[in-house]
Amino acid sequence: MSSYRELVTQQPGSNAFLLGNEAIVRGLLEAGVEAASTYPGTPSSEIGDALFEIAEEAGIRFEFSVNEKVAVETAFAASLSGLKSFVFMKHVGLNVASDAVMSIAYTGVGAPMVIMTADDPSMFSSQNEQDNRIYAGLSHLPMVEPSDPQEAKDFLISAFDMSEREKLPVLFRTTTRTSHMRSTVTFGSPRQRTRYEVLNDPGMFVTLPSNSYKFKEKLIERMGKIAAAGYEKVFNSTIVNSGSNTGIVCSGEAYNVISDVLTEIAQPLDILKLGLINPLSEGMIVDFLSTHKTVLVAEEVDPVIESGIRAISQKNGLAVTILGKLDGTFPMSYEMSPSATEKILRKMLHLERNENSEKITLGYSVPPRPPVLCPGCPHRGTYFAVKRAVKMLRIDNPIYSSDIGCYSLGDYEPFKEATVMLSMGSSIGVASGFRGATDRRIISFIGDSTFFHSGIPGLINAVHNRSRILFVIMDNDVTAMTGRQPNPGTPANLMGGLRSISIVDLVKSIGVDFIREIDPYDLRESLAASMEALRHEGVSVIIAKRECAIIRDNRNRKAGISEKYKVNPDKCSGCMNCVTTFSCPAMSISNGKVTIDPALCDGCGVCAQPYVCPFNAIQIDEVSANAA
Ligand code: SF4
Ligand code: SF4
Repeated sequence: MSSYRELVTQQPGSNAFLLGNEAIVRGLLEAGVEAASTYPGTPSSEIGDALFEIAEEAGIRFEFSVNEKVAVETAFAASLSGLKSFVFMKHVGLNVASDAVMSIAYTGVGAPMVIMTADDPSMFSSQNEQDNRIYAGLSHLPMVEPSDPQEAKDFLISAFDMSEREKLPVLFRTTTRTSHMRSTVTFGSPRQRTRYEVLNDPGMFVTLPSNSYKFKEKLIERMGKIAAAGYEKVFNSTIVNSGSNTGIVCSGEAYNVISDVLTEIAQPLDILKLGLINPLSEGMIVDFLSTHKTVLVAEEVDPVIESGIRAISQKNGLAVTILGKLDGTFPMSYEMSPSATEKILRKMLHLERNENSEKITLGYSVPPRPPVLCPGCPHRGTYFAVKRAVKMLRIDNPIYSSDIGCYSLGDYEPFKEATVMLSMGSSIGVASGFRGATDRRIISFIGDSTFFHSGIPGLINAVHNRSRILFVIMDNDVTAMTGRQPNPGTPANLMGGLRSISIVDLVKSIGVDFIREIDPYDLRESLAASMEALRHEGVSVIIAKRECAIIRDNRNRKAGISEKYKVNPDKCSGCMNCVTTFSCPAMSISNGKVTIDPALCDGCGVCAQPYVCPFNAIQIDEVSANAA
């Protein structure tokens, strides 16, 4: 797919090789969705990127909301207005949104509404691997989970149908693998759009305790109806391979791993594949359990299905042996790996070990590649300046309270500026919490998008409680880590004329009396401001403002600008100050001297300043500048 536009323009019946997330966007178009909202988060980000590009052409009212809770509230309001609505987020985003989701479960929806959570088993890009299937039980909401891109598209459409019939929001869960795998998807026909008539009896959507008391009963009734409505035929399938004594129950990505491993070990066991995660399809499960002596439940992260199946087995007095996570057959953490699953199945089925699947040794070691800030990243200058200021003021053992974003990488060498980091927006709340508990200086870092998302209440709390904190807001104009999506502070010209919110005005309005805006590429200014801020007695705020280096690179490339820096070997003393204190990934060491890789250098020029290279050995490469 060369452009997201093809999701709109390709004809029904045609095939495309799609990412799971792209298939979901096509599913939205085929379902006739008219409103969508999100706060960007991997592994769901591509859905927002695609919608940002095609929403207008596709006639979808789409927004990047300030956080996931607001995104859910936005979609809910669209649903109450009669628009089929969709809201999506990464798994931890559902924690932020859950306050609204739990109540929407009680009120129900107007027009159909689907809430997507993209979970991240093994935590490729997340702070935890919470299993959001548990939210289905917690909220008493139906949940659907696809295994591949085709199912992602088709199940999503069916989830909207379920929401329409049952008047409840439907939870739609993917994992990193389903969102990011590619396979061929056959396009269907987009549905006719409908403006739904929404009943609005007095109190119907008002969660006053007296109303909620009744809503709860209705919710349980609705879920009972769903359990009996035959949705298992839409979302589940029984694959009878051999009529074996042993069967496997699985869902989502676990189904793909199990299918591959069964082929590998040539054991055609029967499979019950569940797409409807809540409510579990009791009749179908009882049939499967009754016809097998042993049933293995294969699922990623928590034993959600296994717990349900054990309860169904017990309730129905079945003699089947159930294996899964609760008895230790599968581990309780991380996504399922084919090699580990093969070992488990071979052991369970008393098969020979496969010598070929043993670990392959390369015979040489691969150097570790920890994630790093990009060449030219403005955060590098900020971290450098703050660390230097701490050193110059002889501040002993400060506490660095960091946050979620690209700048989390400040935890790595050479900066090591993260003592604690919890969740979106927590940096300033945690920083403020140290007040009165320690004499150590507190320095807190947050990005612009995270500040808008959930950092503002923490700053209010810090000012209100007269904390002493240096709070650094690293403002690069966008939500950089997930693909440079706009946020409320993005300049208006970069986000289609929406109103841009000034961080300076916001901070001022909270009552912060020390505010400095710095350019993190200017190390002298950044160092001076950091020292001044660290001497301040109350809450001091530094706004380190410089656009994301990738935006600058893209603009320069289009304009044919190509500035590079190089090390003059005659001037380089080999002191390694640049490598040990600044550590731009464009730098490497060769024969005791530093060199700069022109393919990586983005020409920011920060390393040429005397704080980084005291010998003035780093200079602009005139050849590259002239060549441009
Ligand atoms: S100018 Fe220096 S700091 Fe900037 S990208 Fe190039 S090598 Fe890195
Ligand atoms: S800081 Fe300057 S002199 Fe020292 S190693 Fe780097 S380039 Fe050479």
